[in-house]
Amino acid sequence: MAKALSFKVGTARARPGAWTTGTLTLGEYPDAPITTPVNILCGARPGPVLWVQSAIHGAECGGALGLLRLFKDLDPKRMKGAIVGVMAANPTAFRLLARNTPYDGENMNRLFEKPSRTAHSRQAAATLIDTAMSVADAVMDMHSGGLDTEVPFYAIYWEDGSPASKRAAELARATGVDAIWRSTDSWLAGAMYTAVTKRGKPAIIVENGSGAELTDRVVDLNRDAIAGVARALGITPGRARPARRILAVGTCDLLYNRRGGFFLPAVEVGTVVRKGQMIGRVMDSHGRIVEELASPKRSYIAALVREHRAIHSGTMCAECCEILRD
Ligand SMILES: [Zn+2]
Repeated sequence: MAKALSFKVGTARARPGAWTTGTLTLGEYPDAPITTPVNILCGARPGPVLWVQSAIHGAECGGALGLLRLFKDLDPKRMKGAIVGVMAANPTAFRLLARNTPYDGENMNRLFEKPSRTAHSRQAAATLIDTAMSVADAVMDMHSGGLDTEVPFYAIYWEDGSPASKRAAELARATGVDAIWRSTDSWLAGAMYTAVTKRGKPAIIVENGSGAELTDRVVDLNRDAIAGVARALGITPGRARPARRILAVGTCDLLYNRRGGFFLPAVEVGTVVRKGQMIGRVMDSHGRIVEELASPKRSYIAALVREHRAIHSGTMCAECCEILRD
């Protein structure tokens, strides 16, 4: 794979043994280009290229911080291939720390099934995936809860039995997470990791923490997850160190509230709850508990609204993933 030593992402050009920077243009404001910062850490020798992106949901930028921490740790002279860091995959949403694109209200990570030259988010999605497919051998899409929610440290890949899907499962294990969601959920068919897998290259999501509170621990885990995948791909020396026990989870139920108020979680994210177990309550402005949310099945809590957040009716309060194997 000699290509690793000679490629560009936007204005960033890979240079053997060096950390180079630039920008990738994903659209245009009325008066200026809409760009994301790009960092490339390129090894002295050829090898695979790992694409790592962050903030496709604007507030979810912990992956970018983990990547910077890793780049500062690594010696590119000891690397084969390269790691590309796309810091704000949805730049306009990143500027507002918003989940969706302000210009068209789209969740960009649902548009990759048919990216197109129509609305802004679709054009940006097309540029992003085409660029990733042209330079990279594997893709990591770094996520977290947004400003209102928290998620445990876990990975997702698209399960379709293809070679790319199987490789994605291996890379998910290499992140060091202790839970992996084998996704076949139709509502994720338009996610970028799904589209990349269907185009024949392994891709995973890593979820971790909250967009509202980026602790050192969260940033360290993101750094370690990217480092694990880089080792598994052979970009950096050493062996991947998967967790000893990994929970396999599947189809996810999204739990919505009917009553507004303040959310009082009853469990922690990442725990396994019984069927019917209370996950959280809603307290109204008079101090009364007006709603209790229960898990519809035995499940892994893959997301939860943060403690004491004010929520309106129809807020997505929790993600409950079925347990496939524990
Ligand atoms: Zn996200």
